[in-house]
Amino acid sequence: MRPSFCPRLVNGPFGDPGLYIPFGFQHRAIMFDLGDISALSSKDILKISHIFVTHTHMDHFAGFDRLLRLMIGRAKKLCIYGPRGFLKNVEGKLAGYTWNLVNNYSDSLVLEIAEIHAHEVIRRQFPCLNQFKAREEPDIAPFNGRLLEESGLSINAAILDHGIPCLGFTIEERFHINIRKNGLATLSLQPGPWLQVFKKSVYDNLDAATRIEAESTHKGQLTTFRLSELMAHIAQITPGQKVSYVADAAYNVTNIKKILSLVDHSDHLFIEAAFLDKHSDTARAKNHLTARQAGSLAGRARVKQITPFHFSPRYTECGQLLEAEARQAYRDSFGAAVAPPARKT
Ligand SMILES: [Zn+2]
Ligand SMILES: [Zn+2]
Repeated sequence: MRPSFCPRLVNGPFGDPGLYIPFGFQHRAIMFDLGDISALSSKDILKISHIFVTHTHMDHFAGFDRLLRLMIGRAKKLCIYGPRGFLKNVEGKLAGYTWNLVNNYSDSLVLEIAEIHAHEVIRRQFPCLNQFKAREEPDIAPFNGRLLEESGLSINAAILDHGIPCLGFTIEERFHINIRKNGLATLSLQPGPWLQVFKKSVYDNLDAATRIEAESTHKGQLTTFRLSELMAHIAQITPGQKVSYVADAAYNVTNIKKILSLVDHSDHLFIEAAFLDKHSDTARAKNHLTARQAGSLAGRARVKQITPFHFSPRYTECGQLLEAEARQAYRDSFGAAVAPPARKT
């Protein structure tokens, strides 16, 4: 299956955390964490619609300035989510600059900042044309784990303990729409942007009689089909893709329970593995996971693929040890389901 989300770490395992997740062929991406993003192109950054920040230790949030610098002057709403205290952090960043000339822009960026508490989400809007001063009263809504819900996907969060509240995230497709090549051939159609329109119509649960314009193999002409016809010929529905992200969490009973529940059966888990297990005292003192703990959580949650990252700089010369420890623990705790069958003698 061709995945809908194509996540990639912006930096290597020793660099600032940041997971860039473009959405297939759509001109859109989201991010988990916002550390140094100088490795991302301007084009990639401008695709971002939503950013989810685990916590505001500098290495997870220092990319804010570059992001803002690029987005100012664009007609766009950018939504950024973070843990308790996030509104004050963002206001502090915005207060660090002078905004007397922004009225010259004809298009207006609006920052929508959401701060996640145990039972509520507090949202405030900061319009560029208002010199990034907050608009009116905040909007307060109940929080039950879900941060964003669209017709085709949802994003959930858990509030973890890192000495401070620190969010873990997961993005999940409601279901996956595979396009059958032989079905396209039967209808003499070729792939193109129209497939995004078709998929959106399916996710939006539009009426079966809805007419969709499809691109014909004959000189790219447009042919109209009913949604139900296209569904019958070119679509195959399979379970949706799930990508999870855990950065900076203490290894304690409450966190373990929350992480296992959040990342359960993910297709891909990105998880911090800051220290080797022989340095677990340091990991405990700094409220971080060891590589073994990260791997074991991934195995217990039955994730399909694990990417350990956020390695402590003390291992710069031996990052492969962290990688190996995490993968070994993953295999061990996943157990017989992934272990090769014992050879009969
Ligand atoms: Zn941290
Ligand atoms: Zn960190």
